[in-house]
Amino acid sequence: MKRKIAVIGAGVIGLTAALKIQKEYGENIVVTIYTADKSPNTTGDVAAGLWAPHLVQDTPEDKILKWAKETQDFFWKLWKDGYALDAGISLQPVVNLLCDDTSIPKWSTIAIGCNEIKGKELERFKNDHKIPYTGGFTFTSFTCESTKFLPFLENIFINNGGQIKIKKIENFSQLKDYDVIINCTGIYSKILMSDNSVKAIRGQILRVEASWQFHTVIDDSDDGCYIIPNANCVILGGTHQLDDEDTKPRIEDATRIIKGCKQMIPSLHEAKVLRHQAGLRPGRDQIRLELTTINLGNKLVPVIHNYGHGGSGVTLCYGCAGEVVDLVKIALTKSKL
Ligand SMILES: Cc1cc2nc3c(=O)[nH]c(=O)nc-3n(C[C@H](O)[C@H](O)[C@H](O)COP(=O)(O)OP(=O)(O)OC[C@H]3O[C@@H](n4cnc5c(N)ncnc54)[C@H](O)[C@@H]3O)c2cc1C
Repeated sequence: MKRKIAVIGAGVIGLTAALKIQKEYGENIVVTIYTADKSPNTTGDVAAGLWAPHLVQDTPEDKILKWAKETQDFFWKLWKDGYALDAGISLQPVVNLLCDDTSIPKWSTIAIGCNEIKGKELERFKNDHKIPYTGGFTFTSFTCESTKFLPFLENIFINNGGQIKIKKIENFSQLKDYDVIINCTGIYSKILMSDNSVKAIRGQILRVEASWQFHTVIDDSDDGCYIIPNANCVILGGTHQLDDEDTKPRIEDATRIIKGCKQMIPSLHEAKVLRHQAGLRPGRDQIRLELTTINLGNKLVPVIHNYGHGGSGVTLCYGCAGEVVDLVKIALTKSKL
């Protein structure tokens, strides 16, 4: 008999996990996604989708490096196999500037073509932007735009025999007939799991028309701004307001973002604003990726949690999906005994 797996959530984390399970088990398993909503109404649909680990709090560095590398390889494969347009994947140069003597992050060792910015080059950025940078690095990275990537994944998932049901799960007992449940509800795990360590990290951005802007610029200081091109617009950001669950864009944030971005790239004063957006990054002290069990009507059902990816859900999605598959194997082996 085929084993039945339920995935809760159709954001970038739920969809990549669901697909990776299908890829591993093929016809031997039936995967159903239950989700309150889907693209274009997920957190990822607000994101610029830049591959660059960010706001992952105390998640161990070795895990971040592993998951980020596996996701980078996945984007690379889609890109080189000709799916860049359909999956919304682009490659672009990134200038990442640092303040307050912050050191270059460890993940730069796996970034493509990474180089330190120092000496005269650093002075030039300091003078041009009028910001007292203390260091920086350049690299080449992918952007993966959820508004294209998620529908792309949904289509593959459905073509593989998967089903997406628009249904809010209030209680795991609604899924008691499944062999394994995978919880990918992002910020909403705060309620579903009563997990008080989940805290929103509010992010506000603007989408602007700036067809001349082809590279990403990040001022990594506490209230620094960023400029990230996507295929049909450029994203100006941002904010990272902890424990703030307001999804309405605010004028004062937009004003600060525009001012900060123009200070770095003055020609942005020409840019037409297309849209203001705000979203809630699923912050947590550590990403929760673990196998537990839950008692549902005298039956112990394995539940795999995969949430709390902060500002890195796109960057880490495929690596985390691989770990979900490993946990599914353990869960199914145990339940056979
Ligand atoms: C402004 C901003 C910029 C960002 N930039 C980047 C970036 O450049 N790079 C990067 O890697 N990351 C970025 N992020 C972070 C990234 O977007 C998130 O980490 C990621 O989208 C989280 O994905 P998720 O699938 O866990 O959550 P979500 O996208 O929130 O998905 C959760 C899913 O669960 C469903 N759901 C919730 N509760 C229930 C329930 N009870 N029953 C059924 N379904 C339920 C929802 O409907 C949804 O489909 C950014 C975020 C923001 C806000």
